[in-house]
Parts: sequence; structure tokens; C-alpha cells
Amino acid sequence: MRKIALHGGTPVMSSPVNANYPGALVMGAEEAESLVKIATARSPFRYYGIDMQHQVRRFEEDFAAYMDVRYALGVTSCTAALHVAMKALEIGYGDKVAVPAMTFLATAGAVVASNAVPVFVDVDDSIGMDPADLDRKLGADPEIRAVIIVHLLGYPCDLEGLIAVAKKHGVPVVEDVAQSCGSSYRGRRCGTFGDIGVYSFQMNKIITSGEGGALVTNDPRLFARAVRFHDQGIIRDKEYYGVSSPEEEDAFIGLNYRMSEFTGAVLVEQLAKLDDLIKNMREVHDILVHRISQQLPDLQLRRLFDADGAAGCSFAIQLSNETKAQAMIEGLNAENITAYLLYEGKPLFKRDIFQHRRSAEKHGFPYHYPFQQPLDYSDESCLKAIELSPRTVFMPIVPTLTKEDAEAMAKGIVSVYRTLLK
Ligand SMILES: *Cc1c(COP(=O)(O)O)cnc(C)c1O
Repeated sequence: MRKIALHGGTPVMSSPVNANYPGALVMGAEEAESLVKIATARSPFRYYGIDMQHQVRRFEEDFAAYMDVRYALGVTSCTAALHVAMKALEIGYGDKVAVPAMTFLATAGAVVASNAVPVFVDVDDSIGMDPADLDRKLGADPEIRAVIIVHLLGYPCDLEGLIAVAKKHGVPVVEDVAQSCGSSYRGRRCGTFGDIGVYSFQMNKIITSGEGGALVTNDPRLFARAVRFHDQGIIRDKEYYGVSSPEEEDAFIGLNYRMSEFTGAVLVEQLAKLDDLIKNMREVHDILVHRISQQLPDLQLRRLFDADGAAGCSFAIQLSNETKAQAMIEGLNAENITAYLLYEGKPLFKRDIFQHRRSAEKHGFPYHYPFQQPLDYSDESCLKAIELSPRTVFMPIVPTLTKEDAEAMAKGIVSVYRTLLK
């Protein structure tokens, strides 16, 4: 058997696998040309200008077509899109919103910024929200008014189970697809199963404009509210948006989350590259899945609810305990295979910012609302997330990896596992 790099052998990869910015890695002449067009037309604003290029509009049309939904709205970030989604759904002070225990800060942060409070729901073996725990928590707490589910690192969560539970309890669903743009479930794009889907185009996401976000929906009323909230409470272009929303009845105060034409121009080009990015990453992902499940049948892979639906931007294995996970990470990193624990192996509610119920506001607002059911941020509220997160090892996959790289990575994973853990 080969000598692993940790024990002095030659690493399987000649240099470390890039961090996970697929879209940025393929950014180039197309994006540059589009940016120049906006600058030379001197029209960087989406709603008026000197020689308008309508690139945000074009991106919204392309994105809606790609996702196969009625409406798409470009915004400044996915955090903004989550905030807009909460306000479209009329979530605010005195409301609770269910979020998965394992997610990025922004999912629960946008709930607090909307003046509501997060209720954390446990995960299943896919590291997505567990429908059974959602059912339990919605059943026990009628103050939960919406659910945000998250498709983490390219894997769709148990959409069938989650949507059915939310329907049963009559609670709207937002899909946070920040990390999984282009992933799908049973032939339909993630983000189009719930009432609203939100996406991120920040640097670390699948396609990128540095910063940026989008919101999709099929519901004209939710869309009209979203457009209003993202633009000071007004709808500038009712005809383009195709919504009737009389000012006297519908208007309310909003913010400014409008997308710039520079961002729109870059995203038109990035979106055109998305299918190729996914195809390349999926090829590597599928080789890893096949090789590892053949050669290490005892090693648990992260559960994937639709084998054809992953975006392919990451691959994860589940060791039997934390010590073994740390040994794998050390061994893999020595092979130049980037490997890590997601969010330092800790569910989001374990962070001090939630344990101490901190917000930017005075007097404990919005947490101090006299809820019927007190919030529970104890370990017992999400035991599976506590147990699973420190033993799930993630490896990023980027579109610049070749099939040969995938075979080398598989060889590295197999030999590190056999050497260190058998
Ligand atoms: C990155 C991320 C966000 C926030 O996206 P921004 O565009 O950076 O605001 C939200 N949710 C998840 C799951 C993310 O990973």
C-alpha cells in the first residue's frame, strides 16, 4: 500500500485544492467586457440612466428562466434577500422562524434583523433540516410562523419531507439556496419548491459578482411585497414586474437592496457559465462517490437525497467520532486535499451570539417578546447536529479539477483512511 503523505510519502495532489469559489475561478473576459459596456454607457443604475443597458433586468429574466419560475428579483446579497423574504411574508416582532441547526450565520441573522427570533431545528444525515424534528417543533409551538430550509454546500435537503410537513402545519417555506445555486431535486431547481427561494453571489458561492443576491417566487403578491421592500416601499416599474399593487392599500416602508448594473452585467455572464461549472464539479463529485463507496463500503458518506441533483461543489464523509474526523483531516490536508469541519464542527445555536440572545437593539429586543413558549437553545434541542457536525468532514470541489485529479483524490482518501483508521 502507498505511504501516505503524513508519513513521508508524496502527496496525491501536487498543490492544495483551491478554496471553494467556482464562479470566481472561471471569471474572465466575458465579465470584463460587460462591465466596460456599463461604464462606457455611463448607466450604472438599474431604473434610469444616460444610455440604459438593462443588465439587472436581463439577469432577472435569465435567472427566472433558468429556475423555471415566474419572478426573480436581483438584490445586493442573500442576507438582503432573506430580509426581503421575511418582510414579503409579513414576519416581524413577536414571530418565530424555524431554521436548521447547521447553517451559516446569515440564515438566522436575517430572522433577528427582521425583528423575529430563530427556533433551531435538528438536521438529518444530509446535514439538512430533519422533517421529523420540524414536525415536532411546529406541532409544539404555534408561534413559529415560517420555515427557512437550507441546501448546504450543493446538496438538496429532504424537500419532499420538509414541504409536506410545512404544508400540514400551514407554514410558509423559504429556501436558502445561497450555497447551492443550480442544484435540483427530482428534476426541479432548488429554490422553487417553497414560497420563496433566495440565492447568494458572494465570492464564496457557486457563481459570483463579489457581492449580490436574488429572490425567486411564483406568487405575485409576495413578489410585489418583495419589490417594495427592496426599493424604499415603492414599485417603480409595475409594467415590467407585471404586478398590480395599489399604493393606497399596499405601500409600506422599505429599504434599499437594489442591485447595481455592474453586478447585473457580471451575473448575466456568470449564469451563462453555471451549467458548465456544475457539469465539471459533478464529474469530480461522482467519481469520489463511486470510488469511495466501492473501496470503503464501511465509510459513511453524507446523505444525498437526489443523486442527480447535487451541484457538486463539495463532498463529505462521516467518521464514527470526532477523533477519527480530526485524524482524517490531518491526513487529507497532508495529501493537499483540502478537508475541514463545517462551521468549526458546531451548530449555529451554540455560538455566544445566540446563547446570549444578542441583537443590535436595546432591552433584549426582539428576544424579549412575551412568547408563550420560551426559546430553547440547549444541546437537547438539536442532538443530532451536536453529534454529527464534529465528525462530518467536508472537501471542496472546484471546476478546475480534472478527472485525473478526482482519481488522485479518491486514492488519497482511501489510503489515508486505511492507514490511519483501520
Ligand atoms: C453565504 C450565505 C448567506 C448569505 O449570503 P450573502 O450574499 O453573503 O449575504 C446566507 N445563507 C447561507 C446558507 C450562506 O451560506
